[in-house]
Amino acid sequence: MPVNRSIIKCEVCESLTMVRTQIGYLEEIPIRIPCENCNILIEGELLVNSKDGTWKINFNNAEMQNPQKIEDKEIDYYLETSGELLTRKLIKNNGLDFNNMNFSPFLKNIDRMGHDKIIEFMKRFSSFINDIENIWPKIKRINQLWINESYDYIEKELKKLLPEIEFPMKNKLDFLRGIHKANIFFLWQGINTEKYEKKYKETFDNVDKLISDKPKKIGELAIYFGDEGLLELYEEKVLLQIDKFLNKFIYLAPVFGLQYYDEITQNDIRNKGITTTSFNDIKDLYIDSYEIIFEVYNLVMAFNNLEHRNDFNKMPEKRSDVTELSEFKNQSKGIKLKYLTEEDEEKFDSLLKPYLDNKIRNAIGHNSYKYDAIEEIIYYDPSRNEFSKENAKEIYLLDFAIKCYKTFENFVNILELIYQTRMIYFMTEGLSPSIEFDKYMEELNNL
Ligand SMILES: [Zn+2]
Repeated sequence: MPVNRSIIKCEVCESLTMVRTQIGYLEEIPIRIPCENCNILIEGELLVNSKDGTWKINFNNAEMQNPQKIEDKEIDYYLETSGELLTRKLIKNNGLDFNNMNFSPFLKNIDRMGHDKIIEFMKRFSSFINDIENIWPKIKRINQLWINESYDYIEKELKKLLPEIEFPMKNKLDFLRGIHKANIFFLWQGINTEKYEKKYKETFDNVDKLISDKPKKIGELAIYFGDEGLLELYEEKVLLQIDKFLNKFIYLAPVFGLQYYDEITQNDIRNKGITTTSFNDIKDLYIDSYEIIFEVYNLVMAFNNLEHRNDFNKMPEKRSDVTELSEFKNQSKGIKLKYLTEEDEEKFDSLLKPYLDNKIRNAIGHNSYKYDAIEEIIYYDPSRNEFSKENAKEIYLLDFAIKCYKTFENFVNILELIYQTRMIYFMTEGLSPSIEFDKYMEELNNL
């Protein structure tokens, strides 16, 4: 795999940084470089033309230099970047031997992932990025038609994507089923598939068990949320948030790749850099996710209530003013968060694991943080006092990016629960899926 070597000059302080960028399968690689000297962020992108194998690189706040005219000792800093892989962080040039730096990020990661896995990861990621550009808009417009109840068009659009034998389109429940499958088929490419399949099966089994053990009561739960229009509302918000994630997915590439490592240690988190993103690129994802998760948590709580207390309305005994679900729904996020703890974990809470971190969320929300782009550390102060580095907690950018990515996975899980509940709601309205499974199996056997 080729490596691009450029020397850039900071437009502010004129310090020189040598940037080695690993070329992979991505055609557009975002690059975020902190200037160690004056602390500004240099943003750039490397554009690869996969047809002829050429590439070009653009930077804001920095000028490209002619390497022939610069001696090694004039270079102030050295940085490796990659669209997909973890890299070493920025280092100062105290007599580095640039001719002897043969190990590219790709070669170094081979050690950790193994050759086949690294190629699999890089190919899978770039194909997902292409699909986000080319296929996601087609699914997104079906989601919009669904939200706007334009059923005539939905049927036509879904037929373009799904086989009719498996997905006949005769009623609203068929549409829902088709739309959900189209979304999930697409999204599974972007998540840790093995983990997701386990969680998906768990959700499916847990709901299925409630359907067979408590059919009337789960029907009441679905009617409660369905009649108030909450299922549509939750679905719409979750899909919009998933869309926001997909738009920023390219920044999270190295995090997506972590699932391919045999092991990730605290040492990696501390020492490895992620050059595809800065804190600014992704911080809003976390804030917005937090808002939506706590709205949808009402539904998760109803399932917990039914599972553990045999009544979707009956809340766990934590507060005297919250005995029923309707009271819980009106509580602030801060209070709701107190129900989501490791100690009192209930069955459906696992959909939201790992739980959101309200300290980081609050600090970002109140602008009480500082980002050190060189060390890639976010200092945040959750107290409501003025920001001070002494009182601040710290988290590595890579760790924060992992939190963001896992929230994305949580949304995909939540989508499943909303889907299951909507299916039940439609069934209480007398609808049933038009697929005739016996006939379908027969046709499959004849293929
Ligand atoms: Zn500078």
